[in-house]
Amino acid sequence: MALAHSLGFPRIGRDRELKKAQEAFWKGELNEAGLRDVGRELRKVHWDLQKNAGIDLLPVGDFAWYDQVLSHSLMFGVIPERFRPHDGKATLQTLFSMARGVSNTCCGEGHAQEMTKWFDTNYHYLVPEFSVDQHFHLGWEQLFEETEEARALGHNVKPVILGPLTYLWLGKTKGADFDKLDLLDRLLPLYGQIFARLAALGVEWVQIDEPILVLDLPQDWKNAFERAYNQIQRDPLKKLLATYFGGLEENLGLAANLPVDGLHIDLVRAPDQYPTILDRLPTYKVLSLGVVNGRNVWRCDLQNALATLRHAHERLGDRLWVAPSCSLLHSPVDLGREDQLDAELKSWLAFAVQKCEEVAVLAQAVSEPEAPQVLRALAQSRSVQTSRAASPRIHKPEVQTRVAAITARDAQRQSPFAQRIAKQRGKLDLPLFPTTTIGSFPQTAAIRLARQAYKQGKLSAADYTDAMHTEIRHAVEIQERLGLDVLVHGEAERNDMVEYFAEQLDGYVFTRFGWVQSYGSRCVKPAVIFGDLSRPQAMTVEWIRYAQGLTNKVMEGMLTGPVTMLMWSFAREDVSREVQARQLALAIRDDVNDLEAAGIKIVQIDEAAFREGLPLRRAQWPAYLEWASAAFRLCASGVRDETQIHTHMCYSEFNDVIESIAAMDADVITIETSRSDMELLEAFEAFAYPNDIGPGVYDIHSPRIPDVTEMVGLLRKAAERIPVERLWVNPDCGLKTRGWPETEAALVHMVSAARQLRKEWA
Ligand code: GLN
Ligand code: ZN
Repeated sequence: MALAHSLGFPRIGRDRELKKAQEAFWKGELNEAGLRDVGRELRKVHWDLQKNAGIDLLPVGDFAWYDQVLSHSLMFGVIPERFRPHDGKATLQTLFSMARGVSNTCCGEGHAQEMTKWFDTNYHYLVPEFSVDQHFHLGWEQLFEETEEARALGHNVKPVILGPLTYLWLGKTKGADFDKLDLLDRLLPLYGQIFARLAALGVEWVQIDEPILVLDLPQDWKNAFERAYNQIQRDPLKKLLATYFGGLEENLGLAANLPVDGLHIDLVRAPDQYPTILDRLPTYKVLSLGVVNGRNVWRCDLQNALATLRHAHERLGDRLWVAPSCSLLHSPVDLGREDQLDAELKSWLAFAVQKCEEVAVLAQAVSEPEAPQVLRALAQSRSVQTSRAASPRIHKPEVQTRVAAITARDAQRQSPFAQRIAKQRGKLDLPLFPTTTIGSFPQTAAIRLARQAYKQGKLSAADYTDAMHTEIRHAVEIQERLGLDVLVHGEAERNDMVEYFAEQLDGYVFTRFGWVQSYGSRCVKPAVIFGDLSRPQAMTVEWIRYAQGLTNKVMEGMLTGPVTMLMWSFAREDVSREVQARQLALAIRDDVNDLEAAGIKIVQIDEAAFREGLPLRRAQWPAYLEWASAAFRLCASGVRDETQIHTHMCYSEFNDVIESIAAMDADVITIETSRSDMELLEAFEAFAYPNDIGPGVYDIHSPRIPDVTEMVGLLRKAAERIPVERLWVNPDCGLKTRGWPETEAALVHMVSAARQLRKEWA
C-alpha cells in the first residue's frame, strides 16, 4: 500500500469565501469571531474534500489568514519593531498590519512588509525582516490550534512547516549589515519546541518544506543544512522533508542524506530525478513522489505516472508515498464548480479536489491494480489522453505550419537600430525629451460599470463602444491639453492586459471559478491555453484607429507581449513554453502589422513578465532568455524601419538580464526607475545599452504628486548616464489604478520638467 498525502490545499475556498471575509473584516463589517468562523469552516470543508477524495494524510498549517510565510513570522516572533504590540502579544490585528501597513497616529505609523514572488509562481509572500539582534520565540498558537481542531474532527494530519533554512533564505536583513545565516542557531531551538508541542497533540509526522534545495545554493547554506538537520534530528516526530518547483540536482545527495525520515521530490518539474534518487536514498526513508502537477489545471496522465510509481513500489514497498508535486495552493479549488465549460474541455481539466482524487487512485493502483475504481480511472485517463492528442480543437495544422516556417529573418528588423531611429526621427518629428505615458489611464467606476453592464447583456455592443469612445476622447483631450508628445488611447476597453487579448484568441478558454490566490485577499483567474493559438481577427486596430482619428499627434498602438501572455496564463503541458510563446508572437505580430497598415507610427508591446519568466536555476537562464527575446522580436519585426516599436517593463532589476533586454531590440524601452533614484540606469550605462530609454520619473504606485524640481532632478541624473537624444520622459508604469485629478496634476509637472530640460540642452 502506498500512502496518499497532500502537501497543502488552497485556502481561499470554492467561492473565495476567505477573500470576502477578510475584506469584510478590514472594512469593519465582520468582527473577529465572524472571520474566525469562516476560517474554521473553510478548514473543515477542505479537510473533508481531501479526505473524501481519498487522501490518507491531511495537511494542517496550510491555512493562513494572509500568507503562510507571514504566519511563520508570527510563530517565530519575527515582528518588526514598528508593528510590535505593547504587551508583546501578537493578534490578528498585528498580522494584518504587517501585511497591509498601518497609518493611524494613535498606534504609530508602519509601512507594510515587502512582498515578493514565491519562487517562480504568481503567489506573493511577505518578506520576513530580520535585525542583527533578532530574537525568536514562540508567539503564535495557530498551528497548534488548527492541529487540535483537525484531531478533534477525527483527521489523521501532518502539520506543514517551513524549514529553518528556507525561512531564513526568504527573509531580508534590516539595519546593520549581517549574514542572516548567523541567525540559524537562534532559530533552531524553536523547531524543537514546536515539534514537542505537536507530538503532545498526538501527531506522528511533520512536513518540513525546504524548497530552496532546488536552487543554486551557496556552499555555506549547504553546510548549514547538515548542521541544522543534525540538530533537528533529536527533536520528536517523524519528519518528511519536502522539496518542490524543480530538481535537486547537485543538492540531491545532500537532501537524500539529511537525517530525517522521508523526502518528497517534484517529479513533474524534474522527472529526471527518478530513478537516480532510489540509489541515493537511505533504506530507512520514505520517498514521496510528486507526480500530479500542483501548479496547473490539466488532468494527470495516470498511466505515465503509474509506470514510475510501480517501479518505485517494487523497490520501496510501503516506504512509497504519493502526492501532488507541490502544495495545491497554486491550482484552482474545484472543477465541479464549473458549470459552463463544455464537457470535452472539462474532461481534460483537474483542479485541487480532482488532483487529490488522482493522487489517491494512483496510490491505490500501486497495490490494487485490479480494483474497479482503479481500472475505471485508468480507462478514463487513457481516453482523455487520446482525445486530447487527436483533437482538432487543440491541434491546428495552419498554426503549426506557420510556426514551423519561422526563420531567423522573421525575428529581425529590416535595418539596425541606428538606421531605423534616423528614419523614425524624421517621420515622428518629436522634440528632445519626448513625453509619453505607459498606456493605461484611470479605470474609473464608470468604465467598470459599463463593462459589467455590457457583459451582463444590459448594455448593447454599440452602446458599450460609445461609452468607451467617450473615455478615449476624454483621455485624448486631456493629453492634448497637457501637451504630451506621444499619446495613448488609455486602455479603457481593457479589463486586464492579458485577459483582454486571451478573450480574442483561439486556443484560450476561461473558467468561471478557477481562482488562485495571488496575495492576501487578491485572487487571479488566469486564462487557460488549451490549444494552438491563433488570431481570428484584428484585436486592437479599431480602438487605436478611432483614437488616432481624434488627434494630429502620434497615437501609440498598445499590445501585450507573448512572454507576459504566457506567464500569466495556465499553459499547456503537451507543448513547450517556447512553442506557445511563438504562437502568441505570431498572433501579436499580425496586430502590429495591422496597426502599421492603419497608419499607426508607434506600437508598444508590453513585457511586464519578461524577468519573472526566468528559471530558478541559472544554468537554464540562457535558453529561456534566448527564446523569450526571440518571441518579442518576432512580434516586432514585421514592420518597416520607420515604425517605432516600444516595450515596457515595470520592475527594477536589469543587471543580470540587460544583454537579453538589448537583444529584444525595441526602439524604445520604458522602465520603472523613480523609486531607485535612477540608480537602475547604471546597468544600462555599464552595458552601453544602445537604443532609446524612458526611465520612469514618477512612481505611480502612490497618490503622491512629485513636484517639478524632483522630476527635473531625476532627469538630470538620467542625462548623466544616457545620451540625451536617446532619453524619453514618462511615468514608471500605467495609470489605471490612479484617479484623474492626481494623474493630471502629476503629468502637468512631468511635461514642465521635460520642457525645462529641453531649454537646458537647447
Ligand atoms: N500598458 C500597460 C498599462 O499601462 C502596462 C502595464 C504593465 O506593464 N503592468 O497599464
Ligand atoms: Zn509597468
